[in-house]
Amino acid sequence: TREDILYFGAGPARLPTSVLTAASTSILNHNSTGLGLTEHSHRSTLSSEILTGASNALRQLLSVPDDYSIIFMQGGGTTQFSSVVYNLLGYWVQRELEKAEDLEAVRGKLRGAKIDYLVTGTWSQKASEEASRLVGEEMVNVAADAKAVGGGKYGKIPEESAWVLTEKEKSIFTYYCDNETVDGVEFPNFPMALGDGAERLVVCDMSSNILSRKVDVRKYALIFAGAQKNVGTTGLTLVILRNDILTRQPTLKTLRSLGLPIQPIMMDYKTIAKNGSLYNTLPIFDVWVAGEVMKELVTAGGIETQEAVSGRKSDKLYATLEASPKLFQIVPMQGSRSRMNICVRILGEGLEKEFAALAEAQGMTGLKGHRSVGGIRVSNYNSISEAAVDKLVMFIEAFAVAHS
Ligand code: PMP
Repeated sequence: TREDILYFGAGPARLPTSVLTAASTSILNHNSTGLGLTEHSHRSTLSSEILTGASNALRQLLSVPDDYSIIFMQGGGTTQFSSVVYNLLGYWVQRELEKAEDLEAVRGKLRGAKIDYLVTGTWSQKASEEASRLVGEEMVNVAADAKAVGGGKYGKIPEESAWVLTEKEKSIFTYYCDNETVDGVEFPNFPMALGDGAERLVVCDMSSNILSRKVDVRKYALIFAGAQKNVGTTGLTLVILRNDILTRQPTLKTLRSLGLPIQPIMMDYKTIAKNGSLYNTLPIFDVWVAGEVMKELVTAGGIETQEAVSGRKSDKLYATLEASPKLFQIVPMQGSRSRMNICVRILGEGLEKEFAALAEAQGMTGLKGHRSVGGIRVSNYNSISEAAVDKLVMFIEAFAVAHS
């Protein structure tokens, strides 16, 4: 049964049983309407209340300021890798055009303008590659390359003093991934080098750590997250963005005359926001699940509680692994270690397989590392209880004793 399994997979992740129990009723007969929620119109009053409820819960949890919009999209985090490039480049062009009122001046300014990427793991690498594909390598600056300081591997966020950021006037936006799910690397806090959000537009992928700690939304131009780890089901993506990104966008004519790409309509934040996330058929069931999860988080004490619990759980796991350094080699360096995805190698022929198999026999599953890096990965999202972590900790301790 569900109670027999403690699932530590990296995503899609476990969801609270309470929400899934309610969801199983909702999908058959939502609120006694005689229809399942996937059958209801996305334009009904019922759906609009669900959207408002989810949006309000997210606004409350992250204290999203009034001059920021929340939109719900599809296509996962990967679609956002593309959307942010089109939309933020558009914003930059329009802002420059307002300053110069002359297309030729903007054309000149575009030469040498760059998008800065802090590449600290697999996902930020992918995002930077997508930007190169869309606007050309010459517009992409890898301002920090974690592989270069990690002997060809991800595991350390380069020191800020070593970052090579584009000068402010030429910087279109700066992109980073707050938590690298595959590599177990997380920014300990907002990077000092990026200032306070006023000078540089900062875009952040929080797909795997959103709602696990406080965030000063004001420092960001845009935050996005696929829902399927800390918030809900696959199929929903959350985007929080500053309202001026919606209003300051160039005309198609401007983009064409500058030779810049035009985004597919489904990636156009302005269009999605103007239509209250309902430009096309949004999966309202997924919005409902996310809303229920977020309302539970609010009731449980809000973001402060999640931050405290996440910290306690990951501290315990790291301390247990650190206690047996001959057996467990934590992959990322201290200071770059993720609270959400704990990546470790087990030293000794066949021991990782044995670890995963023994854990599975005790109902602890999803512990295998990402196929690209191997090892063991414990994913510690909001829905993982402290009791589940305690059980895993005891298992790790027993494994260490058996192999000492
Ligand atoms: N960013 C991060 C940090 C992720 O962990 C993932 C997926 N694991 C993605 C982006 C890609 O998300 P999706 O599969 O929803 O496109």
